[in-house]
Amino acid sequence: MDTKCIFCKIINGDIPAKIIYEDDQIMAFHDNAPQAPVHFLVIPKKHVSTLNDLTEDDKALAGHILFTAQRLALELGCEEGFRVVMNCNPLGGQTVYHIHMHVLGQRQMHWPPG
Ligand code: AMP
Repeated sequence: MDTKCIFCKIINGDIPAKIIYEDDQIMAFHDNAPQAPVHFLVIPKKHVSTLNDLTEDDKALAGHILFTAQRLALELGCEEGFRVVMNCNPLGGQTVYHIHMHVLGQRQMHWPPG
C-alpha cells in the first residue's frame, strides 16, 4: 500500500470506483474517463509502480490479470474484439503509477495507437 497512490486508495475503499470484480489479489473497475464504450482497468492489489517493477515472482499475478481481463471483456459484451494496453513510464503514456491493464471494447480500434 502506497498511501499517496490513487489506485491503492480505491483498493482500500477510501475513494469510490465502479468495481466489476475483486478477489484477494486483483481488482477491476471502470475507468472514470472512458475512451471506449467499454473501458475498465485490472490492477494488482499490491502496489507495483510500473511494469519494470514486476519480478519473476509476479508471473502468476500477471497471468491472473491477463486472464481476468479476457474473462471480463467477454462478460461485458466484447466478444467481437477488444484491446488490452499497459502503459509504462512517461514515454509509454503512463499517468498513474500503480500498474493497470486497460481493457477497451465495443468500438473499432486502429493501429498504430498514436
Ligand atoms: P495510464 O495513463 O495508462 O496511467 O492510465 C491511467 C488511467 O486511470 C486513465 O485512463 C484514467 O482515466 C484512469 N483513472 C485515473 N483515476 C481514476 C479513478 N479514480 N477511477 C477510475 N479510473 C481512473
